Amino acid sequence: MGCIVQKFGGTSVGSVERIKHVAARVARVWREGHRVAVIVSAMAGETNRLINLVHEISPAPNEREVDVIVSTGEQVSIGLLAVALEELGVPAESCLGFQIKVLTDSMYSKARIVDIKPSYLQNILDRGKVAVVAGFQGVDENGNVTTLGRGGSDLSAVAVAAALGADVCEIFTDVDGVYTTDPNVCANARKLERISYEEMLEMASLGAKVLQARSVEFAMKNDVAIHVLSSFSEGSGTYVVKEEPSMEKVLVTSVAYKKDEAKISLRRVPDRPGVAAKIFNPLANAEIVVDMIIQNMSQEGVTDLTFTVAKADLRRAIEILKPTIEELEVPEILTDEDIAKVSIIGVGMKTHAGVAAKMFQVLYDEGINIAMISTSEIKISCIIKSKYTELAVRALHDAFDLGEEEGKS
Ligand code: ADP
Ligand code: ASP
Ligand code: MG
Repeated sequence: MGCIVQKFGGTSVGSVERIKHVAARVARVWREGHRVAVIVSAMAGETNRLINLVHEISPAPNEREVDVIVSTGEQVSIGLLAVALEELGVPAESCLGFQIKVLTDSMYSKARIVDIKPSYLQNILDRGKVAVVAGFQGVDENGNVTTLGRGGSDLSAVAVAAALGADVCEIFTDVDGVYTTDPNVCANARKLERISYEEMLEMASLGAKVLQARSVEFAMKNDVAIHVLSSFSEGSGTYVVKEEPSMEKVLVTSVAYKKDEAKISLRRVPDRPGVAAKIFNPLANAEIVVDMIIQNMSQEGVTDLTFTVAKADLRRAIEILKPTIEELEVPEILTDEDIAKVSIIGVGMKTHAGVAAKMFQVLYDEGINIAMISTSEIKISCIIKSKYTELAVRALHDAFDLGEEEGKS
């Protein structure tokens, strides 16, 4: 019999009833004779509740303590699931990140996994038990608790699957697979039977939160087979697989959106060599990821520079930029959190002209203004006003014929 890793997200363990349901599902595979490790997230809404509690006390809390607090949601779920399993006569043992030694670096709130030694988990499985592992959390080399970024239980699951050499990493969530776009936004989104790691990574990076982007990257590098399934229903789900030559190079395969970025505009920045480096180096040193950047045409030796960062990094970015802004005598710095990024993705785009033009036309037809644009070989992204996100997603999904009714792939 094989080794199976199953991960259940927040809504899948959102209530006592749901936890009992998950236990029954886990019991089923365990009774078939498989070695089973289960990774669970905090109950739905719990991580947000914990983050809000911290911010009620401090606007800029100590990052180490934030991770101590927000990692606790998962501790409750593993305990509850282990108890639910034992109620069904399935021996189970819960484990926290530090116990199984999910060793990470010390970047609190977005720590990277360095290593997981399989021995602790192997020992539980060898004793015939189900290992119930807290997702989202790790420990650094000094014993500090760390967390792996929002949605990080997916990464925990993939990393545990890699460490155990599991046959498959099953990600159970509240939708029954990966769709052409968020099925909760677009009713006629179509489920994909299979998707390549590359395309899934692009989708996840551009906001399709069904899988955390870093988990897909980790799975791709370590050859972990991912199968996305619903914990609410039975179904074939979606397999994330290596790109096969037979896979159709469809022009546009999906539409994604992201609402967690913010825009920073620096007005009248001196236009001379070295200025961009001066602005962006300190942000990079603070591990703040800058996404899109636009520099306007220079006039009278000054230019406007606009870029996006994660909303969660906005305050810190402004603080870090202050000394440079003063030194460069930049007269104005504007921020906008009311933005969203909509993207179309497809490997077939590489060889086709006119895809971007069509995207812009669709947005124009809906009366949606584009604030920023970025493109790569396999995606085009536009920044728009946040309130138009759903409208833009549906219009693009329709315009590129991705929907169920059209039956087109
Ligand atoms: P979990 O709590 O199980 O980790 P998440 O909320 O993180 O679940 O991810 C599942 C959600 O991802 C779905 O409810 C859906 O709204 C959203 N989603 C966004 N894009 C897609 C997509 N292309 N396919 C499927 N789900 C998507
Ligand atoms: N509980 C964490 C979060 O809400 C991790 C996860 O759900 O994957 O981000
Ligand atoms: Mg998730």
